[in-house]
Amino acid sequence: MEKKKLDTLMAAISTASPFLGSILRGARIVKADGGPWPAATDGRRTIYLYPKFFELAPAEQAAVLLHEVLHLAFRHHNRRRENSYLWNIATDSVINTMLKEEGFALPEGAITTDVVSEIIRRHPAEVKRMSAEEIYSLLLRHAPDVKLEACGLHVEEEGGGDGDKQDQSIPQDQDSKSSEDRDDDEHWHGVLNRAVVLARLAGRSKESIERAFDLMPPSQSWTSIFKQTLVEGLGRVVVQTWLRPSRRLPQLLPGSRKLTVPDVRFLVDTSASIDRTQLSKAITIVYSVTRKINSRIFLYFWDVDCYPIGIVKKTDIITKVKIKGGGGTLIAKALKQVAKDIRAGDIVIIITDGYIGDLNQDEVQRMFSIIQMKSSTAVILTSAADIRIRGWRTIKI
Ligand SMILES: [Zn+2]
Repeated sequence: MEKKKLDTLMAAISTASPFLGSILRGARIVKADGGPWPAATDGRRTIYLYPKFFELAPAEQAAVLLHEVLHLAFRHHNRRRENSYLWNIATDSVINTMLKEEGFALPEGAITTDVVSEIIRRHPAEVKRMSAEEIYSLLLRHAPDVKLEACGLHVEEEGGGDGDKQDQSIPQDQDSKSSEDRDDDEHWHGVLNRAVVLARLAGRSKESIERAFDLMPPSQSWTSIFKQTLVEGLGRVVVQTWLRPSRRLPQLLPGSRKLTVPDVRFLVDTSASIDRTQLSKAITIVYSVTRKINSRIFLYFWDVDCYPIGIVKKTDIITKVKIKGGGGTLIAKALKQVAKDIRAGDIVIIITDGYIGDLNQDEVQRMFSIIQMKSSTAVILTSAADIRIRGWRTIKI
């Protein structure tokens, strides 16, 4: 009986939105006992329906199913950030807005980009184009204590974890996703692809659908891109100096190592929303790549000012980071300091949420360029806003 009702519901959803109906068919739907809410997922491909689900009206059932499947399709559980409550608000707003645009009724008080845009002080049209990561960063910046009714991602085995578990330990060197994660990424990527094609064929595609891929995690993890970037940059400096004989003193081969081991200059934006998990992943990679050549790591904190910390050990960085929150962010002073300190061939890494007030000032652009030309590798790791600076490699984290 329930199976038949479910089939009818799925058919109705596909008629209303070929796009969402097609995505929904990418999930395994399982009836389960108990459960404090109507539905939950395993964070991978399965949606569990609890008895409460079958007490809902069909329109509510559709909204619940689609809400859950979009969390799965966009891999929200795997991309979860340090503050999981704000992460839930950010992801719910992305999902619910998509459901609304596809004509599905949302429960009263549902979080959408209209609700969020007021809180993060951005135009609703702008928020509609944002990823969950961007919304999350702006929430941290403008309303870290906001209270809204978010769904909590409803992941089965976690039972409403509140994200308070502060993990200060440095994770293992994880420069690639687990094969399980990659399989799921691939599965949902394929599902989304078919859904977009179907919507186009049905003549029902629109901006929010065409943008669906932007809401997916990239197929290659940022950590492996970051590691590759560092290794390549290091290769340029180290290989050159080791292999090129000195023209004046050809007997001295290879060239003097002492003078040319590059140092790392690590600039951490402490003004708002640097995620400790992301930060420690970045640090772990920096250490794993530079350990063999004994690079020193110079740490700089910055918000509107610059606070040079000096040489640090791996674990020091995480324990020293204090996020101020709420304030503005200007990079001029930090760049000025690094431009003064940098030696040829150094690796410069900036980690930020990308919301930098003076980014477009001529003086700031000039310093970015000076630093980049002196460095062997210049990387910006950004957790939210996209930054494009000539010669710098930007990696979304
Ligand atoms: Zn949700």
